[in-house]
Amino acid sequence: MVVAKRLVSFQGDILRRQQARIQIMSELTGPAQQRLFRRLLLAWFDAHARDLPWRRTADPYAIWVSEIMLQQTRVNAVLDHYARFMARFPTIAALARAEEPEVLAVWSGLGYYRRARMLHKAAQVVAGSLAGKVPETAEALRELPGIGEYTSAAIASIAFGDSVAAVDGNVERVVLRLTAMEPAANGKRVRETAQALLDRDRPGDFNQSMMELGAVICLPKNPLCLECPVQMLCRTRGEHPTTARKEMQTKDANYAFLKREKRRNFVEILLEKRPSDASLMAGMWELPHLAAGTADPNRLLLSLRHSITTTNYKVSILGYAPDEEQSLPKSKARKWIKAEALADLPLTGLARKALKRLGFLHGTVSNGSLVKTTAADAFNPLFP
Ligand code: SF4
Repeated sequence: MVVAKRLVSFQGDILRRQQARIQIMSELTGPAQQRLFRRLLLAWFDAHARDLPWRRTADPYAIWVSEIMLQQTRVNAVLDHYARFMARFPTIAALARAEEPEVLAVWSGLGYYRRARMLHKAAQVVAGSLAGKVPETAEALRELPGIGEYTSAAIASIAFGDSVAAVDGNVERVVLRLTAMEPAANGKRVRETAQALLDRDRPGDFNQSMMELGAVICLPKNPLCLECPVQMLCRTRGEHPTTARKEMQTKDANYAFLKREKRRNFVEILLEKRPSDASLMAGMWELPHLAAGTADPNRLLLSLRHSITTTNYKVSILGYAPDEEQSLPKSKARKWIKAEALADLPLTGLARKALKRLGFLHGTVSNGSLVKTTAADAFNPLFP
């Protein structure tokens, strides 16, 4: 460890001396600047990369799962789900054999469920027609369900050393700032620049180092330019507009919570299934939905916040007695579910979060924050 640190420090000294010798042109167009860029970035990545579970493996399937989970999702939100998913489906064959509701149940809480469905379908293709072998190039990976340009490049470069740049939102921002390209520059130009910068000896590490730079240093709002390993080659050093994020909107959402106890240790919760053609979370289970404006404060069990894409929901969970089921808005797909079966059900992230907070599921909650809780058992007379 000490030797490794000294080596990194020694390499850092050499690089700094090289930097001093090079006339800083703040351009990445010349081969010398591009070489220096790669060396600076990779030296920084070698010394500072976060220790993440998918970086400790060369298994293409494990890398593939991580890349799908990381789409539009922060690393911290992924970690628990990744561990649970890999424990339940450690191989492509195990995932391919599973039924879709089980896959959705294990994915539950991570959101964007289409990703899970596509990953499951793609695993079935690999396990079936590809005899269990994950395609080794970005081009071939793109033939699989749910794998687009960015994901194919990330998997192929990290797992198989394919020399193709992976450009997600973070990398795009880094490239735009490095080169002072206009935010409206077309994606093709950004990808060409990223491809020109790519280190062909270590394409997987290079792609991860660009993503890491965007995630921890070249931040969307306030880039940490003083800590940036490639600051000397950056044309803008943070003084560059980036595309504004969509404004978050706030909405209220109300759900009913009904439980019945047939006998001791036999508790059932009333849930309803979302339509199979719903644009979001199709076929997932949730608490009965109530119309807006029905949040009777006397029934309030739990208030929480939940974010979906660009909307922050202020959620109220309202308690009803079991015999009040008929007073709820009509739904064809409502069912009493045994509490012990909840963990294996494909629940929406919000339903999972609410049921955990109400003490009917165990584990961590990864999205949003608790505002107020009333213990369900103390809510008399609805919970006798
Ligand atoms: S110097 Fe600043 S703006 Fe440029 S790449 Fe580094 S963090 Fe981003």
